[in-house]
Amino acid sequence: MNTVDQVLGRIDSLIPHPMKSERVPLNQCIHRILREPIQATEDHPPFHRSSIDGYLTHPNQTPGKVRLLPARLSGKAAPTLPSLGTVLRIYTGSSLPSGAALIMQEDTRVLPDQEIELLRKPSPSLIRPQGSHARKGDTLLSSPSLLNPGSLALLASLGITKPKVSRLPRVAHLVTGAELVDPSTAPQTGEIRDSNSIMIHSLLLSYPANPIWHGRVGDDRQGFAQSLTEALRHKADLVLLSGGSSVGDQDHTGSVLEELGFRILIRQVAVRPGKPLILAQKGETLAFGLPGNPLSHFVCFHLFVRRALDRWANQPERPILQAELIPGAELKNDPRETWWPCRLANRTSTFTASPIPWRDSSDLSCLAQANGLLRIPAGQEARSPVEVLPTIS
Ligand code: AMP
Ligand code: MG
Repeated sequence: MNTVDQVLGRIDSLIPHPMKSERVPLNQCIHRILREPIQATEDHPPFHRSSIDGYLTHPNQTPGKVRLLPARLSGKAAPTLPSLGTVLRIYTGSSLPSGAALIMQEDTRVLPDQEIELLRKPSPSLIRPQGSHARKGDTLLSSPSLLNPGSLALLASLGITKPKVSRLPRVAHLVTGAELVDPSTAPQTGEIRDSNSIMIHSLLLSYPANPIWHGRVGDDRQGFAQSLTEALRHKADLVLLSGGSSVGDQDHTGSVLEELGFRILIRQVAVRPGKPLILAQKGETLAFGLPGNPLSHFVCFHLFVRRALDRWANQPERPILQAELIPGAELKNDPRETWWPCRLANRTSTFTASPIPWRDSSDLSCLAQANGLLRIPAGQEARSPVEVLPTIS
């Protein structure tokens, strides 16, 4: 049986390069990985701009009565510098001449006959000078980097409307089990509602991943093989198979993958929960046979599937946090490495981890509260500080 680290090493070696890149409109770029460095093609701001609504003055203008020149609106080229004794109305964002000063509207008093009283000395500090945010040629975004709403806004401001980003891995999810019914259906005796479909769909939405196909089949081998063939027709990079990964006579995942030309690389991993885990490869396509038990499904996604998605996205290894175990925590050790659902909290400078009780690997009640998986090394007691892998919440 493979250890967790051996399986992770195997996944890394199967994905030596990130996904190829493509150009995509900005509104489809959230959570994508940028694959080209972005340089400023001009100074930012591109011209001296006003940060206030108020008046433009000569830099040596002193307080007192001055004459108001005719108004100018924003969006126009910079006016010439007013001479001493005159001011010009300007607005936030107005372009300004070099060597000017500004005074805020609140620091003035309007007088009759196009005159204004300046109640204090105008200041150049109210101007956003050309190039004060970035100079032409400065690197604004490095590559690879994860695009977030802020970086998308920056790209828009630069006029980069189709950046080069990593292609998203195409993911198919096939749920197997004759006992499963749609969550909207009342189960008959012996049936249960399928909860893995929505779990995986929601987990994938938090990733640079494209869930392209989803199916649900019973336990007959032929139906399984047909559905998997259909999933592969959709050119999936990653196929996630829920259930049927163990060694029972209703567990067809391994044999159907082999029949369709996959090479099975891993059949079991020494992890609790999550032991039956299949990793297989056919050309550029990877397949995971994940345990059907919801808790195991969740753990295997975070430990292994996420590693494959991160490799494709060129993301560094997920950091493991060190946390203090809360006093009195009851944790069972096991000959297998255990990843125990827990609640991670940030107390001043340290994290604390509160293990959440679970009865067995079908126990879903703990998952709603969990935001981390606490590692108990194989055959050992859990001792502070413990290692915790944060999960998607
Ligand atoms: P399997 O891995 O197919 O042997 O399934 C192990 C256990 O997980 C069985 O009790 C199944 O009923 C349950 N299970 C399998 N698939 C799902 C699913 N999609 N949603 C909820 N429970 C499941
Ligand atoms: Mg099953």
